[in-house]
Amino acid sequence: MQTIGVIGAGQMGAGIAQVSAQAGYQVLLSDVDLARAEAGKAGIAKQLARAVEKGKLQPDARDAALARIEPVASVAAMGRCALVIEAATEREEIKRAIFATVGKVLGADAALASNTSSIPITRLAQASPDPARFIGVHFFNPVPVMGLIEVIRGLATSDATVAVIEAYATALGKQMVRANDAPGFIVNRVLMPMINEACFALGEGVATIRDIDLACQLGLNHPMGPLTLADFIGLDTCLEITRVLFEGTGDPKFRPAPLLVKYVEAGWYGRKTGRGFYDYSGETPEPTR
Ligand code: NAD
Repeated sequence: MQTIGVIGAGQMGAGIAQVSAQAGYQVLLSDVDLARAEAGKAGIAKQLARAVEKGKLQPDARDAALARIEPVASVAAMGRCALVIEAATEREEIKRAIFATVGKVLGADAALASNTSSIPITRLAQASPDPARFIGVHFFNPVPVMGLIEVIRGLATSDATVAVIEAYATALGKQMVRANDAPGFIVNRVLMPMINEACFALGEGVATIRDIDLACQLGLNHPMGPLTLADFIGLDTCLEITRVLFEGTGDPKFRPAPLLVKYVEAGWYGRKTGRGFYDYSGETPEPTR
């Protein structure tokens, strides 16, 4: 089986490493240093242990998947990878520096992919060793649970590179959708305006947090309301992506809701900070207004 390189062992990188190993790929996992890469693998071991406890995974399948993941100190070891996926922090200068380093070792036929949520693929490709072999693969969180991969072609991405990702997505058992390199791709282009509009509605006093969420949950048959979902994603991330849509299109329909901006300025990012539209300090989340 092929070897895949995963750069960044945070929540997305660890998830990508996990599903790749479970699909039978050998995985080299890196982060800023070996300790972080090992911490990423330890997190995966916990996830897999939980799956075994729940009876969803056999212990020998867990052991086999873990044995296929090798934390490495740097990308220098990734020269033998057929595909390298970058899932590091969402900062363009970090990603550009990574691509420059990977470029020194990447095999002549290997593909390089970025899991960026918002940075244009065509622009990132300019920092890669070969824009024809560069592509966006946008996974969803949590990676082992979510069944979708958005594949984003840069202007220069070749058909052969798309085919590499197609085969990979199939091996992972994920559905693949193709998007062109436009701000927000498909999912965030559609989702973020809904979340942003829910923030406008709340800010204008149209309804309470509870009623906005309940209305969308039951009225649209969504698994959760937009404000609950925003708290899950992180309000800082929602604002960042909305700004990318606004700046990338220049269209005023994407302007961020003032209330969303205020919450982020207050440090109320959602679940990860204990408060967003809901307060998470008690047993059950309570709406804050
Ligand atoms: P995270 O903060 O959990 O993980 C990022 C990891 O990158 C950290 O472990 C960090 O140490 C590492 N890192 C930073 N600089 C590095 C470098 N120079 N070399 C190697 N590793 C480095 O973030 P995340 O949520 O896993 O997001 C990672 C990427 O995935 C981002 O591009 C993000 O936009 C994208 N993404 C996130 C989500 C989501 O819901 N969280 C969904 C889809 C895509």
